[in-house]
Amino acid sequence: MLQTIAGLGWRSHSGKPAQNVHAGKPGAGFSFELTDEQKEFQATARKFALEEIIPVAAQYDKTGEYPLPLIKRAWELGLINSHIPESCGGLGLGSFEACLITEELAYGCTGVQTAIEANSLGQMPVIIAGNEQQQKKYLGRMTEEPMMCAYCVTEPGAGSDVAGIKTKAEKKGDEYIINGQKMWITNGGKANWYFLLARSNPDPKVPASKAFTGFIVEADSPGIQIGRKEMNMGQRCSDTRGIVFEDVRVPKENVLIAEGAGFKIAMGAFDKTRPPVAAGAVGLAKRALDEATKYALERKTFGKAIVEHQAVSFMLAEMAMKVELARMAYQRAAWEVDAGRRNTYYASIAKAFAGDIANQVATDAVQIFGGNGFNTEYPVEKLMRDAKIYQIYEGTAQIQRMIIAREHVGKFKA
Ligand SMILES: Cc1cc2nc3c(=O)[nH]c(=O)nc-3n(C[C@H](O)[C@H](O)[C@H](O)COP(=O)(O)OP(=O)(O)OC[C@H]3O[C@@H](n4cnc5c(N)ncnc54)[C@H](O)[C@@H]3O)c2cc1C
Repeated sequence: MLQTIAGLGWRSHSGKPAQNVHAGKPGAGFSFELTDEQKEFQATARKFALEEIIPVAAQYDKTGEYPLPLIKRAWELGLINSHIPESCGGLGLGSFEACLITEELAYGCTGVQTAIEANSLGQMPVIIAGNEQQQKKYLGRMTEEPMMCAYCVTEPGAGSDVAGIKTKAEKKGDEYIINGQKMWITNGGKANWYFLLARSNPDPKVPASKAFTGFIVEADSPGIQIGRKEMNMGQRCSDTRGIVFEDVRVPKENVLIAEGAGFKIAMGAFDKTRPPVAAGAVGLAKRALDEATKYALERKTFGKAIVEHQAVSFMLAEMAMKVELARMAYQRAAWEVDAGRRNTYYASIAKAFAGDIANQVATDAVQIFGGNGFNTEYPVEKLMRDAKIYQIYEGTAQIQRMIIAREHVGKFKA
């Protein structure tokens, strides 16, 4: 089955190139107006979120069940894997369009959005560093049927300090033998293949930029043991697991670029994936704002709707300011990607700011709901639990600030 954007009839395999309308086209000028096509992507994702995700989100949160039917439907609508290049059968959309879609999916449920987004994270090293054969084989199969992949970098002993990972890759003939343990891998139990980062040079004096290698690993390779599904605070339908690699043999054809190039690939992927993570946080914050506003218009105290108490309406105003500014931050970061520019600074600003405001806005939404906000019968307690992870995964709030400071101060040193 081909992936299409419903209503647009965009087909990646038709021979007719999918129109790649980037807001970030250099020279496109400065405009806050979305193109008609971007509006259509947004509308398709919004309709899917409102009609198909929201009605079942609370149940998935309760059971922790993986939302496979929603993922299949998102795949049919072309709302997943949108950035897979046309040469591999994908739509080859820009980061800007992917972020617009992500915000809408997150509005519906960020557990579902994270499951979908983890595909982009797993694919990104292959998109930025894979050769033609690797891209056709591993990205191509994802356009032929709904399929997940995962990004395996974090370990029990090392998350923020990526250079501290211990998983080893030893070259033996035409293969590498992988041994080690990964942790917190989203889609860990659902992936068809993994991007895996391992240390290929045991010499501790070798810098990180040369000591690690990035591999594509088939998930059914002998020696892979997938751990239990972790029970997390929020985004509970997303699948997070530990994975053990014991004498797993990977052919040398599955090395990305070359031995020693892995660290830069793994880190470089984040410049492209942090804008959509920020977009997800904005989608959650917007949902919290909308729910709180509707409630404030209905709930009465002291003879009037609570929205008429200035303390409440000012909270809504603060929430709206944060949503609008975080959206502009992710759109700028995505625009930079599409313009072909290094966006590390903007990606971290967007990720840090959106992650923080999602938590603030969701907490304020619970406050506006009063006692009802603390109860699972109402939607905002889930939003507050779901928001926390945006300050942790894909680089914590503190790590983003380190990157922003480095990039900012670096401009003064140059
Ligand atoms: C639900 C979930 C899904 C995830 N999905 C994936 C995935 O798909 N793939 C993957 O590879 N990983 C994934 N992760 C891992 C995630 O990226 C890490 O948890 C994160 O990077 C933080 O690493 P850590 O947990 O080891 O915390 P640590 O690195 O141990 O940090 C602990 C605390 O110390 C702070 N800290 C650490 N170093 C510094 C410093 N130098 N200066 C200031 N503060 C510092 C951190 O900000 C944090 O507050 C996921 C995690 C979760 C919980």
